[in-house]
Amino acid sequence: MFGDLFEEDFSFISNNHCGKGKKSKPRDSEPPAPRDFTKLSGIKNQGGTCYLNSLLQTLLFTPEFREALFSLGPEELGTLDDSSKPDAKVRIIPLQLQRLFAQLLLLDQQAASTTDLTESFGWNSHEEMRQHDVQELNRILFSALETSLVGTSGHDLINRLYHGIVVNQIVCKECKNISERQEDFLDLTVAVKGVTGLEEALWNMYVEEEYFENENLYRCGACDKLVEASKSAKLRKLPPFLTVSLLRFNFDFEKCERYKETSCYTFPIQINLRPFCEQTEMDDSEYMYELFSVIIHKGGCYGGHYHVYIRDVDELGNWQLQEEEDRLIEDKALRDIENAKEIENPLAVLKGILAEEESKQIPVDQLGQKLLEEKGVSWNKKYRKQYGPLRKYLQNHPQIFQFSPDENKVGLKEKHKLPFKSDSQGQDFQSSPQKNDVQWNSEKNPTRLRDGSAGCHWFDLNDSKVQPIKEKDIEKQFQGKESAYMLFYRKSELKRPPEARGNPRYQIPEHLLNEMNAANTELQKKRAECDSANNGIDLHLHLSSCYKFHNGALHPSLTWKESVVDLTIDRRKTLGDLRQSVFQMLESWEGDMILSVAKSLPAGLHLYQILDGDELTLDGIGLADGADLFVWNGKEVGGTKVMTGPDHEPVVINVLRLAEYNEGGKGQHFTESQHVFSCSTKVADLHTALAPSGGIILKNGSGLDKEAKNWEVFREEDMKETVKSVGLTDGCSVLILDSHDQSFVNVSSGNLTAFTYDISWLQVKNFCRTDGDEKHIKITATIETVMSDIKRKAIRELQLEEELANDSCLRPISGNGKLLSPVPEDYTVKEAELKMGSLLGLCHGKAPASTQLFLYFIVGSDQNASPEMEIVVEETVSVKECLNLMLEKSGLSGDDWHLRRIDWCYEAGEALSQENATLKELNVCRGDTLVIMEGKLPPKGFLKIPIWWLKSSSHKKHGENAQDQVNGMTCKMDALQVSPSGDSPEYIHPDMDLCYAGSIEIAGEASLEDLKMQYVLIWHLLICHVQWP
Ligand SMILES: [Zn+2]
Repeated sequence: MFGDLFEEDFSFISNNHCGKGKKSKPRDSEPPAPRDFTKLSGIKNQGGTCYLNSLLQTLLFTPEFREALFSLGPEELGTLDDSSKPDAKVRIIPLQLQRLFAQLLLLDQQAASTTDLTESFGWNSHEEMRQHDVQELNRILFSALETSLVGTSGHDLINRLYHGIVVNQIVCKECKNISERQEDFLDLTVAVKGVTGLEEALWNMYVEEEYFENENLYRCGACDKLVEASKSAKLRKLPPFLTVSLLRFNFDFEKCERYKETSCYTFPIQINLRPFCEQTEMDDSEYMYELFSVIIHKGGCYGGHYHVYIRDVDELGNWQLQEEEDRLIEDKALRDIENAKEIENPLAVLKGILAEEESKQIPVDQLGQKLLEEKGVSWNKKYRKQYGPLRKYLQNHPQIFQFSPDENKVGLKEKHKLPFKSDSQGQDFQSSPQKNDVQWNSEKNPTRLRDGSAGCHWFDLNDSKVQPIKEKDIEKQFQGKESAYMLFYRKSELKRPPEARGNPRYQIPEHLLNEMNAANTELQKKRAECDSANNGIDLHLHLSSCYKFHNGALHPSLTWKESVVDLTIDRRKTLGDLRQSVFQMLESWEGDMILSVAKSLPAGLHLYQILDGDELTLDGIGLADGADLFVWNGKEVGGTKVMTGPDHEPVVINVLRLAEYNEGGKGQHFTESQHVFSCSTKVADLHTALAPSGGIILKNGSGLDKEAKNWEVFREEDMKETVKSVGLTDGCSVLILDSHDQSFVNVSSGNLTAFTYDISWLQVKNFCRTDGDEKHIKITATIETVMSDIKRKAIRELQLEEELANDSCLRPISGNGKLLSPVPEDYTVKEAELKMGSLLGLCHGKAPASTQLFLYFIVGSDQNASPEMEIVVEETVSVKECLNLMLEKSGLSGDDWHLRRIDWCYEAGEALSQENATLKELNVCRGDTLVIMEGKLPPKGFLKIPIWWLKSSSHKKHGENAQDQVNGMTCKMDALQVSPSGDSPEYIHPDMDLCYAGSIEIAGEASLEDLKMQYVLIWHLLICHVQWP
């Protein structure tokens, strides 16, 4: 069906059809994988092209074919570079085939691409890639090649190698006339059905004779009648390469469907064709053929997969079987060990462990450790009995294990690491270690090669994959769903020149060698680039000259960007290489250069171990991408000695203190500040640093949550611990209580008893000392704190005598500085109605008990004349008793006194007339002021009524003097400028003055007329008693 596609159409080609592929091909960023250990290249499957790949590999491994192809030079084929030139006659197919073969032989890649070749066939679409029959393809390909080589010295290439002749003869029984017909063939098609193998099929075809007799007679031309005759076929000309197509696919006429013949069909590795030939008198060697390729079809008749077993005649590949090796080791192990099945082979186990170390050597004891970790067995327990000490065992296998010069480290010998290093021409195949189970090693034990005989290296080439197989494996393909489909034999007599052996470059024209060399160089370069890209790590170098040590850690003195130099380096390089690179970057560096691992911590940069061992790889010392390194002299930075290592890591601690009033902002009871300490700092030193004048420190492990239950006091025994050992890490909070305030702390649990947000403070001022020391101190408290506790703390903080506690009290101080009534000792801050932050005075004198009243009193209503005095009385004392106590305190005697409350205008007001009533009953309260007034109390039932005199301006003019006198008496009232209320006139005319005229005591039952009379009496008394100047 695609026979036409192989027709070489030069006009078509000159239309630049074939040349475009190379240019438009996108360059992969990842270079193709190198060849694996077999050193042979596979071919990529372009989508259903496995049949093509199998055939191409067969042709490649037909050295005579490829050499004949290579012998056609550019002068005959043209060059691919010219394929775009309109007039150039370029034979694309052979050129592309040459190039593909050169790639398969020399290019270090796991699998070659056939895109260029199939494009030269004109296959562009997927439809054209569709799977075809390999037998069909073989003929089409040969035909296309033959066509494309017309007019060149290679015109008979196919014929020379593959052309054979069969002769069919019919012999007349009567006249003995022989009728002869020749048939050309490039491959022989043989039956599978009903025969047991190739030899039987050939026998049936070329030995058995067919007879024309009875009904079925033959018309002899010579006799010109129907005669008995015998018909036979013989091989008249044998080609150097005999291709046999097996008729695996048949048509079942009954079922009317195609089917695949899966019965057993044997074929020999070597076959003697003499019995099937017309000429039989030649030397045996003329008839001997050897199998060299078996194309296998796997699957049914409507699809499947092809792969090929090929004998590597020139020994180009590395053929060694792990299984074989394993078997030999096992045999030995079986001899050595009784329980061979249970105990793993130590050689394989140790090799496996060391193989994972890649290029490194590891200490012998570390190998033992890894054995224990990976296999769960120790050498001594499992192997020592049979194999002796580990070191000795390793030394006994010098072909596998290699020791470091000091014998402390061990690794695999080079050839055990890399499947192959270079081919016989010295061309390097940069092969990374393959994780292949198959290990190739021909040097080690050549006797392990199959029988030591040459040319029996078989490989299974399955698209990209190439694997060595045993010749015996071919028998697996005699039958079944996966079975031989085409057989390729070569004449045994065809000998290969010795220089071709193991030499993939043999007979390849110079220009292709150069092209492949260049391509390999390019590949190596790309792989190296890719490799170093994959292995490149970025290191951040922090230069000590750009750093300062302060606040417990290193900080850049410039911006981060200016202080840090980035360096990209291959992780497989050594520390010495790194040091060299750094020296080169920092031209002006003098003296020792120490590289320390650095880490950016919340406190700043901290240094860890010094990098040591210049011969070690960066990977080996654990430097990862993005690592920070500090470049310094190893001692100091900017004159400050720098402590390094995990024991000196700086820790940022959040230090909380109770806020000054409103200092912390609304709702904030704390001020917070960050302090840095080395994690090795003793808690005692931390305490001293944060609370130099004493106080307690609490820690809060949970950081942000400042609930009381999370706070814990550092106990005395903690003081010897370190910041690290008590669990203080970055972001941990400590609370400093300035005073020795233990009242919030439950001593037994060490926990804070109050919620910290309740904790505030009060100020206390010393009023007990007369030396003018007006020191304020702060006392932490909650609203539940009892006053006596505050007092005791204040005395301690003020460093006063402890005894003072028995004779002192706390008195709030008003805004204008007045000492207010003392707060009972058993009151809480809340009960005392004290605002947080408010000022208290520590004063002499006992504070009243809650059953006592603190009272102020004055003598007479003139406050200036009489200083305000204070007294504490039981609230159950009677007015009489209270008066007596007050008189005693003020040094007055006699009984012509009574007590009044002070009224709203700070005047003597209502008299406490019920002398026997208790103060409590009369609702006298703490802090009230009482006035001691001269004279007896007014009789019972009398009222004291203040009299106000309203005078008009005109009146004022008229009676100025008198008015002044009245004013003189009431100047206090005027000065106060307080408007009277209640029973006083509400309406005050601007022209009128209101004067207090005094008060009148009058019986409650008295009439208004009586009151008026009383007033007139007083008025006259006033006027008359005043002496005018
Ligand atoms: Zn005849």
